[in-house]
Amino acid sequence: MTQVRLILGDQLNASHSWFQLPDDDVLFVMAELPQETAYVVHHRQKVLAFFAAMRRFASALERAGHRVRYFTLDDSAAYADLPELLRRVLNETSAEAFAYQWPDEYRLDQQLADFARTLDLPVSVADTEHFLTARDAWEHYSTHRMEYFYRALRREYQVLLDDDGKPLGGQWNFDADNRARLPREAALPEPLVFATDVTDIDQMLDRHDVQTLGVADPSALLWPVNRAQSRELLQYFLKHLLPAFGRYQDAMTPDGWSLYHSRLSFSLNTKMLHPLEVIRAAEAHWQANQAQITLAQVEGFIRQILGWREYVRALYWHHMPDYRQRNHLSAQRPLPDYYWTGKTDMACMAHAIGQSLEYAYAHHIQRLMVTGNFALLAGVHPDVLDDWYLGIYIDAIEWVELPNTRGMSQYADGGLMGSKPYAASGQYVNKMSHYCKTCAYDVKAKSGEGSCPFNSLYWHFLNRHRDRLGDNPRMKLVYANWDRQAPAQRKDVLATAEVYLARLNTL
Ligand code: FAD
Ligand code: SF4
Repeated sequence: MTQVRLILGDQLNASHSWFQLPDDDVLFVMAELPQETAYVVHHRQKVLAFFAAMRRFASALERAGHRVRYFTLDDSAAYADLPELLRRVLNETSAEAFAYQWPDEYRLDQQLADFARTLDLPVSVADTEHFLTARDAWEHYSTHRMEYFYRALRREYQVLLDDDGKPLGGQWNFDADNRARLPREAALPEPLVFATDVTDIDQMLDRHDVQTLGVADPSALLWPVNRAQSRELLQYFLKHLLPAFGRYQDAMTPDGWSLYHSRLSFSLNTKMLHPLEVIRAAEAHWQANQAQITLAQVEGFIRQILGWREYVRALYWHHMPDYRQRNHLSAQRPLPDYYWTGKTDMACMAHAIGQSLEYAYAHHIQRLMVTGNFALLAGVHPDVLDDWYLGIYIDAIEWVELPNTRGMSQYADGGLMGSKPYAASGQYVNKMSHYCKTCAYDVKAKSGEGSCPFNSLYWHFLNRHRDRLGDNPRMKLVYANWDRQAPAQRKDVLATAEVYLARLNTL
C-alpha cells in the first residue's frame, strides 16, 4: 500500500513526526509549481531561495532513507496546477491514501480541500508542528490585543518568567527602551550572507519565462537554503546582533540594510527553524551573557516571534477570506512607479525600496514607517500594495504579509491589528533615521515646493479621514494640534498635499 504525502515549499520542518522513521509505504511528493511562481510577481531571490531550499530538503530526506518524488519546474510545467499533478502521482503509484499538512495560506488550503473532496481515497491532514498556537487560536484566547496574547504565551511556554511566574525585570514589555536612533558614527556589523550557487535554478526560471522582480546573483545566493545555514545565521545573530537588537530595532540608516535585525524570517517561514528553538536559544544566550546583553534586547526580540508572529497568524485564519477584501479607508490610488524602481527624490523611500530590490529585504520599520506609511498617507489601494509586499520580500507568505500590510500598515481592517493608524510625518522619519540630511526635500518645511511630502500628506490624510478617525481617543491630540494651526497654514499644507498627490509618480 502506498500513501502519498505532499510537502509544500514552506513546510521544510525536518523535525516533523512524518520524518522520524523511513517507511517504504510512504512516498513524499514535492513540486516546484508554475502556479506558485505566478500568483504574484516575486522577487527573483525569493523564487531562487524557495526552490533551492526545497531541493536541499528533498535530498536530505532521501539521504535519511525516505522515498521522495521531486518535480522541478521542468517536470511540473506539464501540469495545469497542483491538483492535476497530484492526481497523476496518485494514479501512477496506485496510491491507497493521500495526506498533506495544513497549508498556511488560505489559497492553498482551499485548493487542497477542494481537491481532497474529489478523491476516492482516505485523505488525512496533519499539523505542520511548527507554530506555538493552533490555527484557530483567535477563538481560544480571551484577548485579541497583541500585548495580552503575547503575555498568555509567555506564561504558557514559560519564557522570561521568574519562579513565581512573573515577568523577569518586573515588566512584560520593554518597548519604550527600544526606540533609540542609531549614533551617526556607529560601526554597523556586517550582515552574514551565504554564497550558494543556484545558477541551474536561475537558468530554469529563464527557460520557463518566469516573471520576477529585483536583482539576484545566482552564483552567490545570500539567503540560507538549509538548516545548517539557518542555524549559522541564528548563532551569528545571537553573538553579534542581539546585544543591540532591541535598542536599535526602530532605527534606520542608508549605511546598512539590516542593522541589528536577525534576517531569520525566511528560515522561520519555510520552517527550517522552529520558533521555539529560536526563542529558547535567545533566552539561553542572554542568560549566559547578561554582562553584554540587557533584558530589553532579548525581550524585544522574543516579543516579535512569540508575540507578533503567532498573533498575526491567528488573526489571519480567523478573518480570512474577507480580510483580503477590507479597505476601511476606501483608498483607491495606484502604486507609484518608484515602488518598482526606487527612483524617487525622497531619500527614505529610495533607500527602503532600493535595498528591497537589491536584497529582497527591508526591516520592519522601513516596511511600516517608510513604504507602508507613505502608501497610507497617499491613499494607495491595499490590493496593489499587498501584491507588492507579497512579491518583493524574501519572507513574504500571505498569512504573515496580509495582516501586516492591510492591517498594521494600512489600517484597512479598521483597527483589528492596531488601535490607530501607523501614520507619521517626516518628523518621525527624521527622528529615527539618517535619511533626511541627504534628501532633496526639506523635512523641516511643512508646505510649499521642496517641503517633505510626508509632512503635508500626513495632515491631508488626517483631514480627509476625520469622520473615521476623529473620535478615536488615541487621535484626539493630533487633531487638536491640527485645529490649533492657523487657517492660512492649514490651507497651505492641504494645497501642497494636493499638488504632491497630483504628481505622485514624480516625487
Ligand atoms: P527581526 O526584526 O529580526 O525579527 C525577528 C523575527 O520576528 C522575524 O524573523 C519574524 O519572524 C518575527 N516578526 C517580527 N515582526 C513581525 C511581525 N510584525 N509580524 C510577524 N512576525 C514578525 N514578515 C514576514 O515574515 N513576512 C512578510 O511577508 C511580512 N510582511 C510585512 C509587511 C509589512 C507592511 C510590515 C510592516 C511587516 C511585515 N512583516 C513580514 C513583519 C516584519 O517586518 C518581518 O518579519 C521582519 O522585517 C523580518 O526581518 P527579520 O527576520 O530580520 O526580523
Ligand atoms: Fe523622507 Fe521627507 Fe526625510 Fe526626505 S525629508 S528622507 S522624504 S522623511
